[in-house]
Amino acid sequence: MVTGAPATMRERREELTPMLAQYVDVAERYDDCVVLFRVGDFYKAFCEAADEVARVCELTRIEREDSTGTYTACGVPVDNAPKYLRRLLDAEYRVAVADQVEDAEEASGLVDRAVTQVLTPGTVVEEELLSEGSNTYVGCVATAVGDTGDGSGGGTDGDDAAYGVAYVDVSTGECAVTAGDAAAVDEELARIAPAELLVGPAVPSEVVDAADCMRTERDPEEFAPDAAADTLAAYADPERFAAAERVACGALLAYAEYTQGDDGPLEYVRRVRRYDPRRSLRLDATALRGLELFENPVGSGRTLFDTIDETRSALGRRRLRAWLRRPLVDADRIRERHDAVAAFAERTLVREDVREALSAAYDLERLVGRVSRGRATARDLRSLHDTLAAVPEVRAALEGIDALADLRGALDPLDDVRERIDEAVVPDPPQEITDGGVIRAGYDADLDEVRSTAREGREWIAELEARERERTGIENLEVGYTQVHGYYIEVTNGQLEKVPDDYTRRQTLKNSERFYTPELKRREDEILGADERADALEYELFAGLRDEVADESDRIGELAGAIARVDALAALATVAVERDYVRPEMVDRDGGRDRDSDDLHLKRSRHPVVEETESEFVPNDAALPRGTVAVITGPNMSGKSTYMRQVALCVVLAQAGSFVPADSARLPVVDRVFTRVGASDDIAGGESTFMREMRELTDVLHDATGDSLVLLDEVGRGTATTDGRAIARAAVEFLHDEVGATTLFATHYHELTDLADEYDRVVNRHFAATEREGDVTFLHRVREGAASSSYGVEVADLAGVPESVVARAHDLVAAERDGDRSADDAGGRDGDDDGDDDGDTTEAIPQRTLEEVAENGHSEPSAAGRDRREASPDPSQATPGPEPEEAVAAVLAELRDLSLAETTPLEALNRLHDLQRRAEAVEEGSPGGEEP
Ligand code: ADP
Repeated sequence: MVTGAPATMRERREELTPMLAQYVDVAERYDDCVVLFRVGDFYKAFCEAADEVARVCELTRIEREDSTGTYTACGVPVDNAPKYLRRLLDAEYRVAVADQVEDAEEASGLVDRAVTQVLTPGTVVEEELLSEGSNTYVGCVATAVGDTGDGSGGGTDGDDAAYGVAYVDVSTGECAVTAGDAAAVDEELARIAPAELLVGPAVPSEVVDAADCMRTERDPEEFAPDAAADTLAAYADPERFAAAERVACGALLAYAEYTQGDDGPLEYVRRVRRYDPRRSLRLDATALRGLELFENPVGSGRTLFDTIDETRSALGRRRLRAWLRRPLVDADRIRERHDAVAAFAERTLVREDVREALSAAYDLERLVGRVSRGRATARDLRSLHDTLAAVPEVRAALEGIDALADLRGALDPLDDVRERIDEAVVPDPPQEITDGGVIRAGYDADLDEVRSTAREGREWIAELEARERERTGIENLEVGYTQVHGYYIEVTNGQLEKVPDDYTRRQTLKNSERFYTPELKRREDEILGADERADALEYELFAGLRDEVADESDRIGELAGAIARVDALAALATVAVERDYVRPEMVDRDGGRDRDSDDLHLKRSRHPVVEETESEFVPNDAALPRGTVAVITGPNMSGKSTYMRQVALCVVLAQAGSFVPADSARLPVVDRVFTRVGASDDIAGGESTFMREMRELTDVLHDATGDSLVLLDEVGRGTATTDGRAIARAAVEFLHDEVGATTLFATHYHELTDLADEYDRVVNRHFAATEREGDVTFLHRVREGAASSSYGVEVADLAGVPESVVARAHDLVAAERDGDRSADDAGGRDGDDDGDDDGDTTEAIPQRTLEEVAENGHSEPSAAGRDRREASPDPSQATPGPEPEEAVAAVLAELRDLSLAETTPLEALNRLHDLQRRAEAVEEGSPGGEEP
């Protein structure tokens, strides 16, 4: 990544033209940035920096030649700059924009240029560069090493509060901070999802490893406790915060100030909120990903948020996102939200009116930021006016609805602010204040006077032509104006003798002469003076008004919050009505004293996202007394993981304030949702699937409580059967005995279903499939008890595995069942039904067969195996000779011996591909068994 001044230019600095030397100077000062240098209608980069900009922005480079030699340049068109700036930011560049800070026409030599904006992924405030429905945060993780303060604010987490985590949205001024241990940092970073992260000096890199965003280096001095506390003091009383919080927040705000031009504290950061992550439903990175709340890189790509986002404004959209990111854990507050959603859900007209009015709502949070930065335009203020004008409508709609009375009260239409703007600013002002015509007539007497002077002057000139034609008798005399020469009276050459004495020559053209008179000159000066004065006055008045509005930023901020809540609630109500969601009854936790009261009950619940795409979604019930471990079995693709997720999503939705997709719901308040679901394989990361799985399991077993909801899918799948099964069993026992968390445990280890006999809170559920004439149909319906078969082979058949392989697998399963039966008869039990056993059932005949093949490397099946084949009525099995069979056995043996624990997902895919190719070859009758 090339930033700062290109090395080749630095080396030749003495030879460079003055402009390029200026570029190098600027670029050296901003050596962590790509510098875009304004030249004419382009922002340019040169040499290596040009290569970089050209590559990222997909622009062409041009070879330039001047007295000093050739070099490359790349230009970003100024008119289209936001598009290219966005690309640079997405590629994690900091961009310094150097503008001309002097009028090119007035400059005596080289135009002076200076950096006017530093753009970074986490601190952009330009509207065109921000996504409207989500926040852009810059975050900071720091420690308070060396702090001598007493930290009397008290860490959120007492002694564990080693790290402060702060974040700020520079465009809206939202700023918050918390503290906690390394695990808390990880979890918070996943929730905040910053676009950019500052990391304090003493923070070990593994603490922030998981955050997938740009890192920004800052001077370690800014993380010094005293310096940080000083910065923070401009925003909040530093004593309110724990030591680590002070450092993280102070250093972060110092950086935010720097990116906004270092004009001191950011006025629109009105409040630094200190929060405790435990006061919301905790969702770590694995849970956020596993439940696909905001991201779904596979499948349909639709997320829970996409599905419920029926908001009408950017304010509401960001609020709903925040609610889903941090659902509540206080039953009363949850019920309050449900009350409000219910109130909207019951009243179609109110809901429609409110949503209609809100679709015109402007992004007041970002407006407040722009107003305080002195960047708000006349159009911004007018949009603020229009938004305020819509507030009474919303208030009126909410009139008389008890559940919405508080909300209605918070909707202050700010009549005074609205009237002030309306008095001052014309309804449709130009974009730039310098274009003039922003302030209304009648608003300011001085402005009116200068405008009338200018107008009268122009009227006098407008009538001048007629007057002078009459006075001089020159019929074709014309009055005109040019930028350079001003007003003139033009007389053609043939009429020159009629020109009166008071005309002074101004300009000679080919066929005519141009003149002025003393009166015309006087009027002209008057008009120009008045125009200039009017512009200055307009600017002054506008800036005054903007300051007045800035003084109201607290009230505007509060109104923005109220609008955001109304929009988010009305959106949830819309979802509830349109998709048949039901209000969940929230059960108060009583710590498990009365177990029944803590039951999680869902009647005919659905998966909110899958039901949108699946034409016939089958609803399912869930009844889970507190601390129940439900062992869920059933074939692949039968709906186990969908079911588990839908239970968790109902919990998350309910605690976020939403109704839930079910016919009825009774839900306890959950403190955390843990997941280890689906194939959350870190394909890019290359970490073995099994290692990751075990890490996730570790987190669950360590941190889950009796109030948690735990989803575990296929624990132990990534390793050899014996180990995997043992781990799965031990995990269930631990969750049952030690943790007491309500758990959904999907497994292909059928043997685990006998845990229900041993433990009183372990129950079996299964997903059934019907099998008719060898075809499998999934019912997607959860049932009591354990599944009878894993249908693995049928699924393989459905998936198109070659017939002979399927037939052989059927044989092996049948033989193994027989083997099991004899083993059972002998008093043992090992009902492995997944066909990939690793040798712990030595009595099983097919097992032997495989071992023979694997160890002896030849194809002769055991006598027993051959007998079974021959007895098979399946015609496809009548033909295969020993050759294909050898290939089949080799494929199976290789599969069996594959050490999943040491295989990355990518390797696994490659191996699978190879096996599949060989299996196809078997079917075609030419077993190409060459090893990779
Ligand atoms: P498993 O975890 O048992 O392998 P999944 O939960 O991934 O199965 O479900 C497999 C597919 O079946 C899903 O992609 C979904 O499209 C469909 N499915 C799951 N549950 C249902 C349901 N209740 N109704 C209809 N289709 C479902």
